[in-house]
Amino acid sequence: MKFSIIADFYEKIEETSKRLEMTDLLVQLFKQTPNELIDKVVYLTTGRLYPLFVPIELGLAEKLAIRSVAMASGNKVDEVEENLKKTGDLGEVTEQILKSKKQKSLQQKPLGVLDVYETLDKIAKSTGSGSVEAKLKLLSRLLLDGTPKEAKYIIRMVIGALRLGIAEYTVLDALAVTYTGEKGNRPILERAFNISSDLGFVAKTIATEGLEAVKNFEVTLGSPVRMMLAQRLSTPEEILEKMQGECAVEYKLDGERVQAHKNDGKVNLFSRRLENITEQYPDIAELVKENMIPERVIVEGEIVAIDPQTGELLPFQTLMRRRRKYGIKEAKEEFPASLNLFDILLVDKTDYTTKTYPERRKKLEEITKKNDRIKPVEAEIVNNSKDIETFFEKAIESGCEGLVAKSIQPDSIYEAGSRGFKWIKFKREYKTEMIDTIDTVIVGALMGRGRRAGTYGALLVAVYDTEQDIFRTISKVGTGFSDADLEALPEKLKEYKIDHKHPRVDSKLKADVWFTPGKVIEIIGSEYTLSQVHTAAMGAIKKDSGIAVRFPRFTGNWREDKSPEEATTVEEIIEMYQEQIKTKPKQQKGKRK
Ligand code: ATP
Repeated sequence: MKFSIIADFYEKIEETSKRLEMTDLLVQLFKQTPNELIDKVVYLTTGRLYPLFVPIELGLAEKLAIRSVAMASGNKVDEVEENLKKTGDLGEVTEQILKSKKQKSLQQKPLGVLDVYETLDKIAKSTGSGSVEAKLKLLSRLLLDGTPKEAKYIIRMVIGALRLGIAEYTVLDALAVTYTGEKGNRPILERAFNISSDLGFVAKTIATEGLEAVKNFEVTLGSPVRMMLAQRLSTPEEILEKMQGECAVEYKLDGERVQAHKNDGKVNLFSRRLENITEQYPDIAELVKENMIPERVIVEGEIVAIDPQTGELLPFQTLMRRRRKYGIKEAKEEFPASLNLFDILLVDKTDYTTKTYPERRKKLEEITKKNDRIKPVEAEIVNNSKDIETFFEKAIESGCEGLVAKSIQPDSIYEAGSRGFKWIKFKREYKTEMIDTIDTVIVGALMGRGRRAGTYGALLVAVYDTEQDIFRTISKVGTGFSDADLEALPEKLKEYKIDHKHPRVDSKLKADVWFTPGKVIEIIGSEYTLSQVHTAAMGAIKKDSGIAVRFPRFTGNWREDKSPEEATTVEEIIEMYQEQIKTKPKQQKGKRK
């Protein structure tokens, strides 16, 4: 298969503004792809070489990529950099520079997909001394072997800036159509994806072994299961009603979620985004190894940092700082981490995701050697709102941010990759504030004025519409940023900058600058309001109106652990808006006092 097929396809994808067209284009691409290459084509198209959880990534430093463009074109590094300053897109620069080079010999062999994949793989894997030179050579050779257009996409791939904006669900739709002729089979593929987190593997299986094999996917050690997520409600009464009168409640700790896979003495830790974070938490890996009794097990829990002086929980930010700032060893000593377990997905050969919450909890208790550093999270069964409130108070006093209620009904299985009402989070309520922060995707920016001239004055942010697979605006956020934050914004968002509204963004507002949906920030505001200018939940509450956040402010929290599709969804916004209407009279009374 020629790589030019892929490059042409990427070009078309960049031009399209409709998701259905994107799916159709993907189907055309998959139909031209031999079965043995389909996994590789899927990975490349999502800007990777392997699934997320395999820690081999392209992400070459831009400086190195610039040097290889210079090497391939015979230009000086300075010249390439000069051009880059003008457009900001190294892909574009590469294409232009190589185009203006002398004509290549016509007999040149076309570049194959496998050649590209294997070379990129070598580049990604080469480490140690001499690896920089090796990477340079490999990349510049590849750039020369391809056409300028191919080189453009190769360069974007290696620096991790392909960003076609194709969601996993669009790929699943296209796979269903290509290999079964029916989009209706997507749920089968989706389940396989949810328990394997490996889009390429799902693709390869459906292409080579068919739908039955996809149906037989099993939870596997080493492949993270996409995590089950929680809905939110704001009163114990509503929680009980949803839970049919009785449920479990658990402490909700504010740390970092982790899925730990223990396989014969070896432990792998995966983050909420399914990245392998074992190296960042050697102490947690050790805890799992020593204290989970079975040799083969998958458990989930929340990692929290503890203040060694007081033994109290430290806030989430401390844990993230630990990851970024300190060496692992120093951080380990300064902030010892502990693991609060709350779920179990596999024990030896038995899949626990299909078992009920009470069965899972019981097993979790049985297989954990409890101590100060590792234990099943505090939990209780409740059947009235008073008990929920008491438990909630206890949780807050212990430094938690609230509780998570969990269904104990016969259907209370572990729903991989889904956010349903089987888990409901209940957090401390902020008076005269929204019941919860929301995570929004940056899709545009407005240039600043006065003191903010030269940087962005406000960011246009959006929430995720799961049905349409697009991002709908909910707010313009201009407060909550420190001067340093503001100054750093253009640089921080540079790699996402595009010269038109992204096809997956629905906005009535015109931004000065547009971005590919990529970065997620946490915001809070005073309340939700109906809005004629924002498109989130357009028409859901009132004709021609969307929902917006009033008095939005950045909380200071960049949600680096969330992908845009993991931002707050339109459905959640609608629920919170409805929630607010119900509780509003109470709030207003409070304000008058
Ligand atoms: P989400 O993970 O639901 O997208 P988020 O990252 O903004 O949202 P929250 O809304 O604060 O986090 O709450 C959900 C998270 O709470 C879970 O992903 C998990 O990391 C954490 N958590 C803490 N304690 C528990 C518990 N007992 N059961 C389930 N999750 C828990």
